Amino acid sequence: MSKHHDLSQDTQLNQILSKELARQRNKLQMIASENYVSEAVLTACSSIFTNKYAEGYPDHRYYGGCENADDLEILTQARARKLFGAEHANVQPHCGSSANMASYFSILKPGDTILGMDLAHGGHLTHGASVSFSGKLFKTVFYGVRKDTEYIDYEALAEIAEREKPNVIVAGASAYPRIIDFPKFREVANRCGAYLMVDMAHFSGLVAAGLFPSPIPYADIVTTTTHKTLRGPRGGMILCRKILGKAIDEQIFPGIQGGPLLHVIVAKAVALGEALEPDFIDYQKQVVKNCQRLGFNMADAGYRLVSGGTDTHLILIDLRPSGITGQAAQIALDMAGITSNKNAVPFEKERFTIASGLRLGTAALTTRGLLEADIDVVSDFIIEALRFIGDENKLKKIRMRVEDFIQQFPIYPTLK
Ligand code: PLP
Repeated sequence: MSKHHDLSQDTQLNQILSKELARQRNKLQMIASENYVSEAVLTACSSIFTNKYAEGYPDHRYYGGCENADDLEILTQARARKLFGAEHANVQPHCGSSANMASYFSILKPGDTILGMDLAHGGHLTHGASVSFSGKLFKTVFYGVRKDTEYIDYEALAEIAEREKPNVIVAGASAYPRIIDFPKFREVANRCGAYLMVDMAHFSGLVAAGLFPSPIPYADIVTTTTHKTLRGPRGGMILCRKILGKAIDEQIFPGIQGGPLLHVIVAKAVALGEALEPDFIDYQKQVVKNCQRLGFNMADAGYRLVSGGTDTHLILIDLRPSGITGQAAQIALDMAGITSNKNAVPFEKERFTIASGLRLGTAALTTRGLLEADIDVVSDFIIEALRFIGDENKLKKIRMRVEDFIQQFPIYPTLK
């Protein structure tokens, strides 16, 4: 057998894989959009379905041999509908961005108007940013947060909607730490005759656990990624009312995708099954408790939290009063063994590549079993690392303590 047919013999690739496993094991993973999937999800990602083409949908495929693919997709759709109480589920989107793209294409024509949350206020690129397809194909207008509270400015949202008459309003964000008022969004959408789309990518795990209000009763279309708080494989999903189901399905395939990634759909089914178990609620409750503790500790150390705190799995720290840039903070934390990301904060003037904010999340650390007392230790590491920005020696010493600390919370013990 050639070395390329036996992964254990492929030294080049093995080095990369074991380095990545070590990185994930030995660092504090605090990127709010990441998580650690279960071993069952990990195994499912490499299932035999990776070999199968299944363009189309159950009972309407363009290839033969799809009888098991049909069973798989029907099961996964049923789990998605049950978990979120949705009328229709499409489990084929390869990622969150394609879920959003297909959703727009199902209700908009090129040149129609999207009203989305400003990227700088926490929105996502696909909610209308000029560098994204969403800003290139559609006219875009934005709402944001209030300057005083840093909560969504619902009054301004209503005014903009009234004035601009968007075809769709998008609620949901990547860096907004607060609960979103979906009934309010629905009211605004109704008044201007717009569709309401909710992108719950970040908080879908919290929604599944009943800790974040469900957008399902209010939105025409709900999109999500499956790999953030939902703790599934990398991928996307669309939930919608029955009446839009056909249009959504047609825009995923043949609209923008080819064959579904069936092996990823197996992993989605596993993750949805896990999310339907009662202990998933305990997990999500702990994610929020840990995040609130992290926020409390950071504020206690003098850091300014955007909106003053969090209701969710993430906090956003405004580093401007501390005289640090987001980029410098991210680099220092990385050296100290803490993986995070710089982020824009509302109303800032800094370039996105530098940014004035730091976004931190607790979904992944909570999966590893960290509780509030452990978050106190983690907070101390972060505070110390931010104090020693630029001091490589000090940061390296913190990293050694981080590596030592995190060994108490092993992941993937059987992986090498
Ligand atoms: N929507 C939101 C709110 C996100 O935060 C993200 C990714 O971070 C996406 C969509 C895009 O997901 P993907 O990276 O899977 O395309």
